[in-house]
Amino acid sequence: MAAQRDWFEKDYYKTLGVEQAATAKEITKSYRKLARDLHPDKNPGDAVAEEKFKEVAAAYDVLGDDEKRKEYDEVRRMGPMSGAGGQGPGGFRFNFGDMDGSGGLGDLFGSMFGRGDGPGRGRSSTGVGPRRGADITAHLTVDFKDAIDGLSTTLYLTADAQCSTCHGSGAKPGTAPTACAACGGRGVVDDNQGMFSFSSPCRVCGGSGVRIEDPCPTCSGTGVEQRQREVKTRLPSGVKDGQTIRVKGRGGPGRNGGPAGDLLVELTVTPHPRFARSGDNLTVTVPITFAEAALGADIDVPTLDGASVTLRIKPGTQTGSRHRVKGKGVPTKHGIGDLIVTVTVQVPTDLNDDQRAAIEQLVTASSTNPQDGI
Ligand SMILES: [Zn+2]
Ligand SMILES: [Zn+2]
Repeated sequence: MAAQRDWFEKDYYKTLGVEQAATAKEITKSYRKLARDLHPDKNPGDAVAEEKFKEVAAAYDVLGDDEKRKEYDEVRRMGPMSGAGGQGPGGFRFNFGDMDGSGGLGDLFGSMFGRGDGPGRGRSSTGVGPRRGADITAHLTVDFKDAIDGLSTTLYLTADAQCSTCHGSGAKPGTAPTACAACGGRGVVDDNQGMFSFSSPCRVCGGSGVRIEDPCPTCSGTGVEQRQREVKTRLPSGVKDGQTIRVKGRGGPGRNGGPAGDLLVELTVTPHPRFARSGDNLTVTVPITFAEAALGADIDVPTLDGASVTLRIKPGTQTGSRHRVKGKGVPTKHGIGDLIVTVTVQVPTDLNDDQRAAIEQLVTASSTNPQDGI
């Protein structure tokens, strides 16, 4: 049924560039030449050539077979009896069986989905629609400082890629896939349910619409091989541990002219021995002496880029107190964070006699005891 509906719309003689009265020999000769010229080997990445290649294969599937050619000629003589079809998003195809021959419904559904093919617009009868490639996940461990600063790096991946021997056609070089006989090259088969007929992917060809007689030795006919790939990428500044970066179009190859998937880079950030991160701020702990804490001081504070900055602490600074150094944190697209400095007061150990005497003098001079308020 479905193949015959296509037959009304498709002039296979024109597709193969032959007269309707052509001999079987002329048809085969013309098909071979076209298949050679349009073969994906010769036109890598050319979606138009690929589509034509499939149309030629579908046409030859019918005209190259005496029985089918007779049927086709008969159907073409009788003219269309049932009409419109449409194709929904994602290659889901539905047909309107015996409703009417005007194509009105097809146009209605076509405009609803934005890409339906009415009978007058020459719907593509071969294969399924373009399919996007799979997303590929890769892991990358980056240094703490590189994660803050941003980094250009090269990822080395072993992943699915278009087969380099057959350029994704799946056929042994020098041979060409032919249209799948089970689905007439459409990649889908119809399932009649009352007034509507729904389509599901063809089980024989797995939805590709083609049959491969001589599979490519490299990929065994899948059109895909595992390959080492290098992907150069730039990590933005301020990426976080556990974050996933999406690199568009660098994932698995698309099929039938579809776009490639994305590469998802999952990041692990190695900890820094001194600095840590809190949102857009960096944190660091700096020891100070009891005298600096009591009397106040200008202390040197390290920053992630290596240079140190001076932080003024007030007299009476407590251990564990936090101090902000503006603009020395994490650069992000909405600005730059701060460096949060936690000071710890070091209590002297192994006092010599002079130091012990000085502290005892301090105790004598002090009038308050911190436990008094408890
Ligand atoms: Zn191959
Ligand atoms: Zn099939």
